[in-house]
Amino acid sequence: MSTQARDARICACGYSVGDPWVVPKQRYSLFGWFVMSCGISYPPKRINIECDRCGEVFEVIEGDREFLEKYMLRNR
Ligand SMILES: [Zn+2]
Repeated sequence: MSTQARDARICACGYSVGDPWVVPKQRYSLFGWFVMSCGISYPPKRINIECDRCGEVFEVIEGDREFLEKYMLRNR
């Protein structure tokens, strides 16, 4: 049984949620990537809270387009 809190997770380089290296990143579906490669903006499918250095994912946030856009604005 683990008593470790989720927020206490630390990535390979020693960062945790709240550090400047741990940032929300928009992730797109394959179709989304295709559309954006044509220069058309496309809403993200989900947001990963991940370390910008090693790419460790702390949290995945999924929701509708409006929710994800508001989330990105809040965390900018
Ligand atoms: Zn890291």
